[in-house]
Amino acid sequence: MKVLVINCGSSSLKYQFIDMTNEAVIAKGLAERIGIEGSVVKHQPGDGDKITIQKPMPTHKEALQVVIEALLDKEYGVIKSMEEITAVGHRVVHAGEKFACSVVINDAVMAALKECIDIAPLHNPPNIMGIEACQQLMPGVPMVGVFDTAFHQSMPKESYIYALPYELYEKHKIRRYGFHGTSHKYVTQRAAAMLGKPLESLKLVTCHLGNGASIAAVKYGKSVDTSMGFTPLEGLAMGTRSGDFDPAIIKFLMDKEGMSIVDVDNMANKKSGVLGLSGVSSDFRDIEDAAEKGNERAQLALNVFVHKVKKYIGAYAAVMNGVDAVVFTAGLGENSDYIRREVCKDMTYLGIEVDNAKNKVRGKETDVSTDSAKVRVLLIPTNEELMIARDTKELIG
Ligand code: AMP
Repeated sequence: MKVLVINCGSSSLKYQFIDMTNEAVIAKGLAERIGIEGSVVKHQPGDGDKITIQKPMPTHKEALQVVIEALLDKEYGVIKSMEEITAVGHRVVHAGEKFACSVVINDAVMAALKECIDIAPLHNPPNIMGIEACQQLMPGVPMVGVFDTAFHQSMPKESYIYALPYELYEKHKIRRYGFHGTSHKYVTQRAAAMLGKPLESLKLVTCHLGNGASIAAVKYGKSVDTSMGFTPLEGLAMGTRSGDFDPAIIKFLMDKEGMSIVDVDNMANKKSGVLGLSGVSSDFRDIEDAAEKGNERAQLALNVFVHKVKKYIGAYAAVMNGVDAVVFTAGLGENSDYIRREVCKDMTYLGIEVDNAKNKVRGKETDVSTDSAKVRVLLIPTNEELMIARDTKELIG
């Protein structure tokens, strides 16, 4: 069984083609600049060299057509006919309260996803476009939707309800949903395997630290709290997103700076986080470099980021009455020994202690805690595409 995994952004389409007999990636790539000048697909067959295909791609449908042609290509293709694509797994950001697990896509599912556009206006439309493009170009091929929000549907009401008038939840479904669920779920499964214990016996804090960042409290295999909320803006400071701040600042800025509500929304999503603090970059590599050279605002940005991660770990240990392991994943969590070290510094009261020598590692499953630490600190590279392919196989298989 071979599964095509699709992840669509507003002008991009990321894909992996996975052989589920051995979970090997047969081909992968990225279509960029869809709908704008200079559309391009960068395609990589297996371990082969990257191929660049430049063609006009006005919509996701044309981009997908190029991807299918690349998979079928006589020279560098990896399949002989379309029939080798057994199923397609789609990453979908927001399923609201509709789905707590992955589902086979049908008309009712599509209608439910379209209903969620109101609460995910940036994310769901491109995801839906991707599904529709596949339905047009691969009629009859079964498709599965895998949702970022699904894993967090297990949160208890006290975690997901905002202390706003309750009618707003009833009327508009304003509540906390949480995101990065596929990644949090994948790393909890790997953590259990690494620790050699059943997931149902473990209390885990999973830190997905990338350009977007979120933390989850996962008790006995179920998400019981997470730092992102109604949208992916809540929680930690991120690359360009502010994370938590006092909502009273919004009116203050509108009064004092003459900003519109759209300006404030734009500021909080695109000009804040470590970019806004440092004035250097949204990329932690640049910020770590600048801080090392003595840039005080870059150092402040790192300190603020670390402080917030620490606070959430402490809070989630309290929520779960303890923690067995803290997991670091995603671009920053997997690659930055500095961030892992600083987050875990002075946490011995919780039983967390990083071994600085073991921590000098990147992108490889590793227990980086000291031998005597009560709480394990694990580096686990995430693999959302594999998770999507596994769910697709399970539902279609
Ligand atoms: P992601 O969104 O998961 O792809 O993560 C992207 C972020 O990971 C980038 O913005 C970088 O800030 C961070 N990152 C990747 N590699 C490193 C590294 N070697 N050191 C520090 N940060 C890194």
